[in-house]
Amino acid sequence: MKNKVVIIGCGNVGMSYAYALLNQKVNVSELALIDLNKNRVSGEVMDLNHCLAYSPSKMKIKVGSYKDCSDAKIIMIAAGVNQKPGEDRLSLLKRNAAIFKDVIKNVMQNNFKGIFLVATNPLDIMTYLVKKYSKVSANRIIGSGTSLDSARLRFMIGDKLHINPSCIHGYVIGEHGDSELVPWSNINVGLQNIADFLDTDDMKKIEDDVRNAAYEIINKKGATYYGIGMSLVRITDAILSNSNSVTAVSCYDKNHDVYYSMPCVLNYNGVKQVIELELNNYEKKRLDKSINVLKSVIKELK
Ligand code: NAD
Repeated sequence: MKNKVVIIGCGNVGMSYAYALLNQKVNVSELALIDLNKNRVSGEVMDLNHCLAYSPSKMKIKVGSYKDCSDAKIIMIAAGVNQKPGEDRLSLLKRNAAIFKDVIKNVMQNNFKGIFLVATNPLDIMTYLVKKYSKVSANRIIGSGTSLDSARLRFMIGDKLHINPSCIHGYVIGEHGDSELVPWSNINVGLQNIADFLDTDDMKKIEDDVRNAAYEIINKKGATYYGIGMSLVRITDAILSNSNSVTAVSCYDKNHDVYYSMPCVLNYNGVKQVIELELNNYEKKRLDKSINVLKSVIKELK
């Protein structure tokens, strides 16, 4: 199998991902773009190809079709309709579910053997629907989940403490959405617990700011896309370079029959392992609540 990536949905998110891939040394041999808007795809392919002379990557970039799925390693799906100002992610569900049913049918008809990477909201539900519609094994289906929220968390803590976000260790877990949570008992700066650096008011404010970041950006500029583009590249690199690195992504919980985010070890086969966190009682309750929010949406769908 080639290190070929197919993007389905070439709007803000799809193209931010493509541009971020070109700007980093990720081992992609071929990039194929698919969207309903064929004219836009053709323009995007031209524009991206004109980056190659100055890019650290040497990939072949082309207008794709569903036939490209047959030898693709990763299919990144960002097709769908976007959140309107003030609209929560779950209310997008019905509009995006219909799109996914069609997209996944087309992908599977072309004998896809690689890994699905999902970005469309409501994220955890759309990732669950990929499992339902494709019937491929759960380790091959990854939702971007709280990878973006975790990057926001690390930035905000680092900003507050004047410490590089790469030295803040921790993840947002649960739903990529309103019921997500920060397991503060597991957040560290270097090896020291965050409680030695922040008081509970600071933690609450940062957690609220992380949760509301997407709403605030959408109110100000209409959509969010650079952050998710970088998060998707991080996941793509972990897969293609078989790195066994840990990122919070939306993964399958067999016991609850639901997708939500936990830190996962990612490699060429997708999700190798879900890291079990030691949560305190309050965090456990909040994670259960988040899982139940997602389960009730799935129940409504059935
Ligand atoms: P967008 O409107 O800019 O792009 C969506 C694209 O999907 C459009 O180009 C449209 O033509 C295409 N599309 C629609 N139906 C299609 C189909 N059946 N087949 C192929 N292409 C199809 O939207 P966007 O800003 O790129 O956002 C895309 C999705 O990503 C939304 O659901 C948004 O909420 C989500 N998003 C997720 C995160 C995250 O953290 N996971 C962050 C930002 C946005």
